[in-house]
Amino acid sequence: MTGSEQPVRSGLSHALSLHSVTKLYGSLAAVDDVSLSIPRGSFLTLLGPSGSGKTTILMAIAGFVQPTRGEIRLDDRVITNVPPDKRNFGMVFQGYALFPHMTVEDNIWFPLKVRGISKARASTAIGEALELVQMGALARRLPSQLSGGQQQRVALARALVFEPDLMLLDEPLSALDKKLRADLQWELKALHRKLGTTFIYVTHDQEEALSMSDEIVILRDGRIEQQGEPGALYEKPATRFVADFLGKSNFLAGKVAGRDAETFTYSVEGTELRQCSTAPVALGENVLVALRPEKIVVARSRPDLPNATVGRIAEFNYYGANYHFKVATPHLGDLIATTPAWNCDVEPALDSEVWLGWSPEAAVVVEDR
Ligand code: ADP
Ligand code: MG
Repeated sequence: MTGSEQPVRSGLSHALSLHSVTKLYGSLAAVDDVSLSIPRGSFLTLLGPSGSGKTTILMAIAGFVQPTRGEIRLDDRVITNVPPDKRNFGMVFQGYALFPHMTVEDNIWFPLKVRGISKARASTAIGEALELVQMGALARRLPSQLSGGQQQRVALARALVFEPDLMLLDEPLSALDKKLRADLQWELKALHRKLGTTFIYVTHDQEEALSMSDEIVILRDGRIEQQGEPGALYEKPATRFVADFLGKSNFLAGKVAGRDAETFTYSVEGTELRQCSTAPVALGENVLVALRPEKIVVARSRPDLPNATVGRIAEFNYYGANYHFKVATPHLGDLIATTPAWNCDVEPALDSEVWLGWSPEAAVVVEDR
């Protein structure tokens, strides 16, 4: 929880945990020994490439997929074998999946209707759910009369109307265009803060994960590769995979040539570079260093930094706010560097000579996997 706003339903917030959950399909482990603990009221994101097991985990939490092994608990209660309709979880998926023949309000009423609540009795709850997603004015419309973003808001209201113990969202924004997606990211976050309900969110979009989550779990081939707060994951990726999947990275592979208390030097194709490291490295050891493009200084002349190389712009892209340069260097291969366009020190032109530099703290040592 951040900000001063108090959640309106904090009493309904629950913790969820997975204990060595595995799901086999034949010999394929769609989910492979996943253990996770999601604190009450937090916003946790499962992030990973297509096929990494995100949906299977969410479906196991929802009760639509039976784990081959392992246990799922809501607070202290084991729910592994509780049927989906007895779990009281709200779900939103990528397709809006509204009932096309029902108005917005009837769509939202539906989960209450199946719980035996008349429309008259449900009207306050429906009204509140509509207001939560700012759809009050469009209650009588049919889904076909709504934009994609509005339909997804209705799907959210329908998942929230029965005050679920947990919200499960599987790529709910991925069918929307970029601008609308960004707007709804703000709204979803505000909604989460307001409700205080535990959210479990699935996406393959790294920016979405970084901007929305309290905690991110990175999945790879059904296993947890790394987890942590967005900033910690971005700044300290443990592996090549994470450094590459969460944001962009340049990779420098070299051999340790010397070391002192806080830094070591390593040599890449005869170029000596200096790197901070808290982990012990041995002389002669192979190391892989990940370097974020935005942490490279792009300059006309040699920057006053321990790591520097000259190069030529092999490609560049202009993004309004930033330039992205691909710089061909004599010994370190092609390096991607980004720089604010308003403060660009070099001539953004093909074959233009530029200097790149970075400090020993700018990069991180990662495992090569
Ligand atoms: P994600 O949501 O991360 O894209 P999924 O959880 O949908 O990944 O799938 C993980 C893996 O499990 C994939 O290799 C997928 O093909 C496989 N898989 C998912 N559901 C089934 C199923 N019902 N039968 C067989 N294989 C499945
Ligand atoms: Mg999926």
